[in-house]
Amino acid sequence: TKTPSSNFIRNIVSEDLASGKVTEIVTRFPPEPNGYLHIGHAKSICLNFELADEFKGRTNLRFDDTNPVKEDTEYVESIKRDVEWLGFNWDGLFFASDYFGEMYERAVLLIRKGLAYVDDQNAEQIRETRGTLTSPGRESPYRNRSIEENLDLFRRMKEGEFADGQKVLRAKIDMASPNVNLRDPVLYRVLHAHHHNTGDEWCIYPMYAYAHPLEDAIEGVTHSICTLEFEDQRPLYDWVVRECEMPQVPHQYEFARLNLTNTVMSKRKLKLLVDEKKVDGWDDPRMPTIAGLRRKGYTPEAIRAFCREIGVAKSYGIVDERMLEHFIREDLKLKALRTMAVLDPLKVVITNYPEGKTEWLDAENNSENPEMGHRKIPFSREIYIEREDYMDNPPPKYFRLFPGNEVRLKHAYFIKCEEVIHDAEGNAVELRCTYDPETKSGSGFTGRKVKGTLHWVDASHSVPAEFRLYEPLISDESESEEEGQSFLDRLNPNSLQVLKGFVEPGMKEASGGDKFQFFRHGYFNVDPKDSAPELLVFNRIVSLKSSFEV
Ligand code: ATP
Ligand code: MG
Ligand code: MG
Repeated sequence: TKTPSSNFIRNIVSEDLASGKVTEIVTRFPPEPNGYLHIGHAKSICLNFELADEFKGRTNLRFDDTNPVKEDTEYVESIKRDVEWLGFNWDGLFFASDYFGEMYERAVLLIRKGLAYVDDQNAEQIRETRGTLTSPGRESPYRNRSIEENLDLFRRMKEGEFADGQKVLRAKIDMASPNVNLRDPVLYRVLHAHHHNTGDEWCIYPMYAYAHPLEDAIEGVTHSICTLEFEDQRPLYDWVVRECEMPQVPHQYEFARLNLTNTVMSKRKLKLLVDEKKVDGWDDPRMPTIAGLRRKGYTPEAIRAFCREIGVAKSYGIVDERMLEHFIREDLKLKALRTMAVLDPLKVVITNYPEGKTEWLDAENNSENPEMGHRKIPFSREIYIEREDYMDNPPPKYFRLFPGNEVRLKHAYFIKCEEVIHDAEGNAVELRCTYDPETKSGSGFTGRKVKGTLHWVDASHSVPAEFRLYEPLISDESESEEEGQSFLDRLNPNSLQVLKGFVEPGMKEASGGDKFQFFRHGYFNVDPKDSAPELLVFNRIVSLKSSFEV
């Protein structure tokens, strides 16, 4: 399934190459370094890099760092790491801030052409006079300043003569345009702020709508792919490229951004979760960030396959998060070692098994992939089973353990529950069972059948482990955000559940990023930050079953 999915942008690229409109395709991924990348960004990354790869073009990684206040080098580093981890190599690595000088010169050109002016109105006045969809805007009283005066004022803006918000540079287009974006948009604002890349060199910063088309044009980007919200900005994008007389002409194409069920996907909100310490940083496994997905145990292959499957649409939709889960199951199905872990242990003593004896039983590593071979697991008189696999008074059709019932232990023997020890509150704390040596797994025993198969670990050889199970941070049911209510008030209190139990001894050496399928529990990843030889920590990536079909 490596064939690229057909999509409208791919068709455009292919036609542009065929017609000779372009000789090489150049795309870019342009994140603002104001947070970590999330799964929505992955969609854009895959689209841009895979298009260029397919048509033997180039893709730049460009940091759209024109807003000094929110940007940070920590984010720059995390973005580079995540793009590489996804499996992509950029051709050029650029910072929009490196073009501040050229952007300034192009703004001076606009002023000289009578196409930009310095406005003394404040932000609120500019907003109020912009008009609405149904009514035209009103021209600024400063709109007809002379070119000389504008050149002088813009230079003085740059030199730091004015306070934040005191003056802006606006394009002079059309205050009556049916497209509100063309009603003299702001191109530059005064902002006395330190920039992560340019330091204190600048105190005026270009606005996104002016900067972005220039960035694309300077780099020779041919196909500038962005999300649908920018569709109405396309006429302004083209205006900037044309009037700034950029020698290379990029074109903007829009596609629908990715939305996932039960998933918060706005950097602003994700940052709030981090800042308010509602999660363990940007890479908390509950976060939909690339770093969070990686720590949870997602693979680049699964994320790329997911992005390929959802495709590129021209209209909004919301993708079922179970589809993402489907792809990690698919990726790990034949790769992950299938082992046993007891997440919530209940001790079982096998009374007729000799004391001090240990047997090493044969266990296949992956029942669907024989090439993964076999391992030996210990079995002795004391084992742990899952607490939920025993009941004093079971309902009908309960096939696990209860007094008098017999079950199969995976890879081992049949055991029968003979006696239960309860604590003072009446909870079962230990089962006393017998085993039948005739029923050894692999011996071909057919004497009688049992309906339940339980997983287990040997008590004296097992390795202690912590298991982290996740639920969505916020579920869609509570999506409606009431006035004045923060989404932080709607966090799921059960988004993280921590259990302490045991894994097979062979997993003692497991290290960060190793992935396993635990019998009946699902796929788990060794937590790269918190797992230690004394206490292994496993993050559940996904449970085993899903009703979801692609
Ligand atoms: P957010 O709205 O989540 O804060 P953003 O759009 O502000 O994200 P940028 O850093 O500006 O984040 O985005 C970089 C690129 O990723 C842009 O080209 C943007 O269109 C794309 N992108 C961001 N979010 C999504 C998404 N959910 N689906 C697809 N592409 C996205
Ligand atoms: Mg942005
Ligand atoms: Mg945004």
